[in-house]
Amino acid sequence: MNIFSKGKSTDLSAVLLQREKRSHYQNQLEQRYPNKIVISFKLNIPGPIKNNDYLARIFQTGWRVLLSQLTGQVIEHSRMEANLNTGPEAFLVVTGNLSALKQLTIKFEDNFPLGRLFDVDLMAGQDEKYQLSRQDLGFAPRTCLICNQDAKSCIKIQRHSLMEAYQVINSLYANYYQENFYLFNWGEDTVINAALTALLDEVTVTPKPGLVDPASNGSHQDMTAFTFIESSLALRPYFVQAFELGHNFQGTDLTSLFEQVRQAGIQAEQAMYLATQGVNTHKGLIFSLGIMIAALAQITRTGPSHAGKLRQTIQAMTANLVATDLQQGLAEQKALTAGQQQYQRYQLTGIRGEAAQAFPMVFELALPFLGQATGADNQRYLDTLMLIAGQLADSTLIKRAGSPAILAEMRAWSAEYFALGGSQREAGRTFLANLDQDFIKRNLSLGGAADTLVLTIFLARLQGVV
Ligand SMILES: [Zn+2]
Repeated sequence: MNIFSKGKSTDLSAVLLQREKRSHYQNQLEQRYPNKIVISFKLNIPGPIKNNDYLARIFQTGWRVLLSQLTGQVIEHSRMEANLNTGPEAFLVVTGNLSALKQLTIKFEDNFPLGRLFDVDLMAGQDEKYQLSRQDLGFAPRTCLICNQDAKSCIKIQRHSLMEAYQVINSLYANYYQENFYLFNWGEDTVINAALTALLDEVTVTPKPGLVDPASNGSHQDMTAFTFIESSLALRPYFVQAFELGHNFQGTDLTSLFEQVRQAGIQAEQAMYLATQGVNTHKGLIFSLGIMIAALAQITRTGPSHAGKLRQTIQAMTANLVATDLQQGLAEQKALTAGQQQYQRYQLTGIRGEAAQAFPMVFELALPFLGQATGADNQRYLDTLMLIAGQLADSTLIKRAGSPAILAEMRAWSAEYFALGGSQREAGRTFLANLDQDFIKRNLSLGGAADTLVLTIFLARLQGVV
């Protein structure tokens, strides 16, 4: 892929003018915050195209990584301008020690896989050393993106062509946002916020067929968007617990980590019912998001990791799940859950099967799609939801329809939606609004697809694609 195939060109005079503006703003910040450290953060991209969807995504990902490294620092001020033709840029003013912060930003530039595409400059107005260089702290000068020699000398003699630079940047992009994507060792706060944001984003997306959103409670008489907000916040302590269980787990048998998370999940269900006055808003996600958070915390406890490792860990955690819950569970003849009934009647393994295969719908279908989807967040999420709905054996939908025959209908609706242009076209949007009304009339709902969307948004935030 070529990430430079679109985007407006900018010229040298615009770049120089923007540099002037940046310098002026930086001086203002230094005067306003004389004892603080000013951080200037921008992409460093050669050639005329300095901003487009791809470059904005790289910037946003880097910004999240930088902020997650600053947890615990007092941030006095921040400003971001993401849409400039001359490239996205941001400023931060923080309280802290210049040398410690400089080391942190050097790590960002060197260790974060996209860090080489950024310039992070630190200025301490009052410090006797106004700026520190990499060499001052014993680090090598920045190396060239292409040949690993001293970057300054390559620029000076124009050692490389723009095409060479584009090839390297394209491959950095493709390697980072691939299926086996890089997972930064995010701190607990970042992970918990990603989980809560995913829950709240999903309920805000509108119009979702039969589902609750701020304008309509869909086919659910007992809940509104407010119920979901209450429920989401009530789950925060559980997400923290799941993270800590994963982070602190030392054993080798990951099924016992799963059992710990499941026990915590039973408590979390009580917290949910208390917050919603007895309504099941998030039972499926207590299960699936809890597993995902614990697995993520487990694999990133000593450093960054990859999506492939996350999937292996989820599979190892849930290795016995279908056998114990569905097969033995049925033999014991206790009261059956909806999932167990569907397994008994139709051999559908539902959410347990999805977990045991490490969520293929999320990793293989929805997440790559969302990464490429364009438009406003609501559009990208609606399209992703309809894609999921067309392929998932949604247990809520089957239960409400009374038969898995509904899945063929759902596949056809999804295909028609995309044939009409999806959220990008008026016809697609009208189709979806009508489908929502049909779902309400037939009392149908896409609960399973909505849960899958939440898991997808959660990971997309950590990947930096939303
Ligand atoms: Zn070079």
